[in-house]
Amino acid sequence: MINSSLKELSAALARKKTSAVELATLFLDRIEKLNPSLNAFVTTDREKALAMARVADASGKVGAGDTPLAGIPLAHKDIFMTSGWRTTCGSKMLSNFIAPYDATVVEKFKVAGMVTLGKLNMDEFAMGSSNETSFYGPVKNPWDTARVPGGSSGGSAAAVAARLAPAATGTDTGGSIRQPAALCGLTGLKPTYGVVSRYGMIAFASSLDQGGPMAKSAEDCALLLNTMAGFDPRDSTSLERPAEDYARDLEKPLQGLRIGLPKEFFGEGMDADVRAAVEAALAEYRKLGATMVEVNLPNSGLSVPAYYVIAPAEASSNLSRFDGVRYGHRAPDYADLDDMYSKSRAQGFGEEVKRRILIGTYVLSHGYYDAYYLQAQKIRRLIANDFVAAFKSCDVIMGPTAPSVAFRFGDKSADPVQMYLSDIYTIAVNLAGLPGMSIPCGFGNADMPVGLQIVGPWFGEAKMLNIAHRYQLVTDWHIRQPGGLP
Ligand code: GLN
Repeated sequence: MINSSLKELSAALARKKTSAVELATLFLDRIEKLNPSLNAFVTTDREKALAMARVADASGKVGAGDTPLAGIPLAHKDIFMTSGWRTTCGSKMLSNFIAPYDATVVEKFKVAGMVTLGKLNMDEFAMGSSNETSFYGPVKNPWDTARVPGGSSGGSAAAVAARLAPAATGTDTGGSIRQPAALCGLTGLKPTYGVVSRYGMIAFASSLDQGGPMAKSAEDCALLLNTMAGFDPRDSTSLERPAEDYARDLEKPLQGLRIGLPKEFFGEGMDADVRAAVEAALAEYRKLGATMVEVNLPNSGLSVPAYYVIAPAEASSNLSRFDGVRYGHRAPDYADLDDMYSKSRAQGFGEEVKRRILIGTYVLSHGYYDAYYLQAQKIRRLIANDFVAAFKSCDVIMGPTAPSVAFRFGDKSADPVQMYLSDIYTIAVNLAGLPGMSIPCGFGNADMPVGLQIVGPWFGEAKMLNIAHRYQLVTDWHIRQPGGLP
């Protein structure tokens, strides 16, 4: 059961081979056994999970056509508000915070009858690429516990890779779904900006943040996205579009598919082992009927610098709400109101978050706004234009998800710029608001997983899932699981 696809779990539930309570118990027991060494979950609550499972079993939703995921457990990144559950966002600032309502995404999964197993560890306020910035300690990569799982959705990736949950939610501001998916051998999808509601998803950089599914396969991701996506009047950036069945094109053959290969993604910077796995995947796509087209993304080299102006600028504004007054950590001793604000924030936030707030405040300040923030916004437009031009000659773009396989703890944490470069291939996609995906495509150094990135045009999710699924029908990278785990 722990290796089953969502479709298989759904069928087993429909045939009464198992129940929601049995499935939840199976995964909760596994979490109890393995989480102490992996640290993927920040919070679990057996009582709450089993109560949801009992509701699912009694609801009549299990086995029903419009709620195919009913009775199946999943876990949420701790950035999503979950009513009655502690929601920490990986920070000391919210270590005592019980969410008073559900994020739209959480609510949608609840209505679909899915069972929440718990809340997943993450980099503090989703700032990081290794999970080393979490106040709750780093998550270990199940493929090698001396290595990082990626970030910021590292808990989500580790939990699914170690089969502690059949699926998880993640969020991606600059790569936080795709990069950990790549480093842990999973399939992860960041939808087009505005497709998944951000309501109740704690904001890091609002113009970039987007929630999405992380699971074993593209087919699983399609089913999850069917539940997650949709217009939400409570999110002003949510897009009002007709509902889509993201699984509708899964089986379509790929004959005639044009895959764009940006020369900027295949230059220096990518490790040789990653390159070998990515090229082998492209060869597989040729066999499936695709042709390769060279494309250019001339401004993509500016994506990391532009992101590290725009994202901190938005973060500095978003995080001003954590002031010790309304919720979150409040310093126990202070002289007056100003002292209370500064002590609460000094104590509640970790180093990386403070670094971003300082950068963001600086680039927005008088005299620097034009030089940095405005300039970065112009670059953002140029980057989006590059993609529009590239998609004139191809249907999707492919390349590596991350420049290297999972690195060891401590390897990059002392050098923020090195850490920031982990997202060199993913960030441009967020700046352009495009959908991006990572699928496992082999193994590299130290037998660690490698991810292939697929980038589509706006609203290209169904096509991308089709492209990923056809590859997964002829390869088995996505069903491999870490050795050494029970
Ligand atoms: N690693 C990037 C950062 O630290 C992206 C994080 C994310 O996508 N949330 O900002």
